[in-house]
Amino acid sequence: MINEFKKIVIKIGSSSIIDEKTGKVKIKWLNSLCKDIAMLANENKKIAIVSSGAIALGKKTISKNKIISRLEDKQAAAAIGQIELANCWQQALKKNKISSAQLLLTLEDSEVRRRYLNVRKTISSLHRNKVIPIINENDTVATEEIRYGDNDRLAARIAQISSADCLILLSNIDGLYKNDPSKNRNAKFIPKVEKINKKIEAMASNTVSAYGSGGMVTKISAAKTAMSSGCHMVISSGKIKNPIKAIINGSKCTWFIPSRNPLTARKQWIVGSMQPPGNII
Ligand code: GLU
Repeated sequence: MINEFKKIVIKIGSSSIIDEKTGKVKIKWLNSLCKDIAMLANENKKIAIVSSGAIALGKKTISKNKIISRLEDKQAAAAIGQIELANCWQQALKKNKISSAQLLLTLEDSEVRRRYLNVRKTISSLHRNKVIPIINENDTVATEEIRYGDNDRLAARIAQISSADCLILLSNIDGLYKNDPSKNRNAKFIPKVEKINKKIEAMASNTVSAYGSGGMVTKISAAKTAMSSGCHMVISSGKIKNPIKAIINGSKCTWFIPSRNPLTARKQWIVGSMQPPGNII
């Protein structure tokens, strides 16, 4: 299915890119992913990457084994980790002769329409110049109340902003299950979702990996945003090497198929809002 798409946003979870034991970037895995990305770029597909991992990577400098709970320490960890994360991405893409750029966004960049349009223009200029944007939340300045908090929803917003037709979420789980597969080994796998209803929402158990902030709930929320914009979404395993090639070769994953009538651009922006300021009376 990926062959049909022209503009693809790929989101990488912290647990896929950072080695849980060492707290370092999984360079070999990243190199295999960048080979897949180069393959897509060579087919003239426009790619944007949303990469988590800054906090997980910077954490070890702040605290050796304790969990960081203070906001300012998390923000310091993000500042330390982001520069290294971006550097690893730049090196891995460079090996494939691909230039990259860094975009750090806050929630307001998608909530304020003028800024939303500005981000759209920047991404499209990068694409015109064959540069791949590497995007993350600007965790260093985002405060607890006004932040995305998870990159699943940020990635869906990026897919919407850039009018992407496919969003790939590489995760520590290979798709949607009826029950949490870590608790129930016989949990039923759902390969395709065409509508997000109460049943699907109920399936999204709130499991969070050791490093990431998401879980299935934020992935379903991301699917809603993507599908309302006419964008396909796929949840697939980020644990394996060459994870995009694996999807192309038919590995286990869950596809979310959008309706045929995507909302108009302005309505998409309103529906995708994370912090609606008003109520309908
Ligand atoms: N922005 C966070 C980071 O780079 C990750 C958020 C998430 O786990 O979704 O560490």
